[in-house]
Amino acid sequence: MEKDPPARKFECLNCKYSDYRMSALEIGEIIPGECPRCGKDMKVVGMEPPDWLAKPLGLVSKHFDITDFVASSDRIELEVTARNPKQSFRALLRASKQREYLPVMRGRGGELRLMLVKTPPVKAGNVAINFLLLAATFLTTFAAGYFILFGGHALQAALFSGAIMLMLGAHELGHKIAAWRNGVESTLPYFIPAPNFLGTFGAVISIKSPIPTKEALVEMGAAGPLLGFAVALPLTFIGLTLSKPDPTGLVLPITPAIFAILQVGVFGHVPSGLSLNPLAFAGWVVMVLTMFNLIPAGQLDGGHVARGVMSRERHFTLTRTLGFALFLTGLPFPDFPLWIWGFLIILLFRGYHAGALDDVSKLSGRQKKLAVAALVVFLLCLPVPVG
Ligand SMILES: [Zn+2]
Ligand SMILES: [Zn+2]
Repeated sequence: MEKDPPARKFECLNCKYSDYRMSALEIGEIIPGECPRCGKDMKVVGMEPPDWLAKPLGLVSKHFDITDFVASSDRIELEVTARNPKQSFRALLRASKQREYLPVMRGRGGELRLMLVKTPPVKAGNVAINFLLLAATFLTTFAAGYFILFGGHALQAALFSGAIMLMLGAHELGHKIAAWRNGVESTLPYFIPAPNFLGTFGAVISIKSPIPTKEALVEMGAAGPLLGFAVALPLTFIGLTLSKPDPTGLVLPITPAIFAILQVGVFGHVPSGLSLNPLAFAGWVVMVLTMFNLIPAGQLDGGHVARGVMSRERHFTLTRTLGFALFLTGLPFPDFPLWIWGFLIILLFRGYHAGALDDVSKLSGRQKKLAVAALVVFLLCLPVPVG
């Protein structure tokens, strides 16, 4: 677009702080009261920008018009304009791959601001830990099935363990596919073995590099729960056809709407008690986990989706509101972990969700539909009063 903007090196006369700015002043000229550190005067001491600055400036000016900038060696801040910021940012992002600086775009008062920040190094994870945890979780879910859930039936315990690992695995695979599609670095899933009646707390993958766009943010959040749910649905249905209504059998503490719908499909009504097949029980567990996970708050899967759709301030208000609402509505039911979940949301998500590198451009239609799909699955997993 434009040729490179004129850059000058400035130094504070008082504290010796120095940076580079867009300016056409001559050496020795002074700008009063501009030192960001002490507020005193700064003087032009150099003309040519060094390589570490000239290169990224050249890169930015290929895609944006630079109207102002301030730079120190770990951070370059620019005010820019562009006819199509979304396209320009994507082009800049592609060009910045494998380079020292990563662009971040924010809107402030109608102005477009770019920050180039030093790319954080990506640490390689130890894959042995992932496999160790995977094996351990197979064991603990089998043990939970054998000793607690299905009274010494090895086959039923194995079925439960296999089904729950398959559904959790599909959930994590969804996240992983979204990460690949969007060039986001992430670890393999960590399955979490637990000494509880399920044998696990679920699984997580850890995101290692910034999320480039709102589209990527929505995909990263939604793909896991959607794929996990898609696998849980048929397995739960099959499990229910192998289950029997049994008034003396298991009474589930809550019934997700979709679980009630499947029960009506299989039995014609929602039985008060069940002799539950391990597949159906594993499906019920995953539906409950999906419900917790898709709450549009903080850094939960649903929280990422919500942040792709709304500003950080609105997202924060929503997170707080939901946290307190869950805590208060959960308090009368101490047996069910709703109030704990509300408490954790209040406790863990006290800051803004940083959002995507491009937090300015509007979300595209396809990912809006994906966000709606995540909302529908969330609603389907909410509990309904039955019996
Ligand atoms: Zn100073
Ligand atoms: Zn997830």
